[in-house]
Amino acid sequence: MVRAEGVRKSFGRLDVLKGIDLTVRTGQVCCLLGPSGSGKSTFLRCINHLEKIDGGRLTVDGVPVGYREHGGRLYELREREVAEHRRSIGMVFQRFNLFPHLTALENVIEAPLRVARRRRAEVSEEARELLDRVGLADRAGHHPAQLSGGQQQRVAIARALAMKPRLMLFDEPTSALDPELVGDVLDVMRSLADDGMTMVVVTHEIGFAREVADTAVFMDEGVVVEAGAPQDVLTDPRQDRTRAFLSKVL
Ligand code: ATP
Ligand code: MG
Repeated sequence: MVRAEGVRKSFGRLDVLKGIDLTVRTGQVCCLLGPSGSGKSTFLRCINHLEKIDGGRLTVDGVPVGYREHGGRLYELREREVAEHRRSIGMVFQRFNLFPHLTALENVIEAPLRVARRRRAEVSEEARELLDRVGLADRAGHHPAQLSGGQQQRVAIARALAMKPRLMLFDEPTSALDPELVGDVLDVMRSLADDGMTMVVVTHEIGFAREVADTAVFMDEGVVVEAGAPQDVLTDPRQDRTRAFLSKVL
């Protein structure tokens, strides 16, 4: 479960997150929408320890992100502890940032081998299963340059899953793809959701959000403007700002 209470983040004098309240229960999918610059990526990066929050409280499965609680006080985490926390969170970005010199299979086994220090034979077998799961069993030996953007993005998902995350974060995973490649990636995400993965997804794929999300959250200028069931937020929003935004992306 992800729980944000009054989460704040600034870059210098720029207040990017101005008190975000949001809960994603275990096994649920939360879709985050909002205009460019509203703080969506920053919020995901905070969950994944890529940014440190300046205020409020942010926990994943009850554990504070970036801090250790001891005797009612908070202590900053050591680098090793941060690395450990991050292992249980998978993240997929807009740009498929695969290692170009490695094959699909090698990309998937990289972290289990080097970070988790597991045996090659074992992780290779799991990686093949993951590639099969994302529809790329026959592409294991291909390099990223030999794959379409959609295929690369599915390898990126398999790579994140290889660390057996408890939580998956997606930051506009389909917005850099040609339209005909979007569907395959969304299908993989949908099947992950069906399997009960906890997911926070920044996306402007309204159809996907309506169908898959348990909650839809509309953010603007660093605050949650509106949150609730996708049927409400995305179909019949209460706030003018949400309505104006939706009329632009639909
Ligand atoms: P988009 O839809 O364009 O991806 P977003 O909602 O993901 O937008 P963020 O990337 O979270 O928005 O950025 C929110 C604001 O924070 C922007 O004004 C951005 O310029 C600023 N910002 C983000 N990261 C940094 C940083 N490392 N240093 C300074 N400013 C930053
Ligand atoms: Mg962003």
